[in-house]
Amino acid sequence: MSRWPYNTQRWQRLRRKKLARDPLCQACESLGHGTPAHAVDHIKAIRNGGPAFPPIDQLLSLCQTHHTQKTAADMLDQGEAWTLRGCNPDGTPRDPDDPWNAP
Ligand SMILES: [Zn+2]
Repeated sequence: MSRWPYNTQRWQRLRRKKLARDPLCQACESLGHGTPAHAVDHIKAIRNGGPAFPPIDQLLSLCQTHHTQKTAADMLDQGEAWTLRGCNPDGTPRDPDDPWNAP
């Protein structure tokens, strides 16, 4: 986490602001768990054309597990869908129509 924009003062400020507002993992929260956030992530990844310093509501507070899942989704340009859809605690998509859940 030492590459741009994460190594800037501006990001550190944004990150602190986000964690002050949403100290719990937002993916866990949607599942009813109160897990402290460990990372702040971009809903739309920079690698997929998202802004480096987006408004706070376009950021996501995540625990370690969900941050790993979100990063993996970003690699496939599925980060936004992942954010909207949410996942089960074991990492499988919650959407029953997702191909992942096909028999
Ligand atoms: Zn979580």
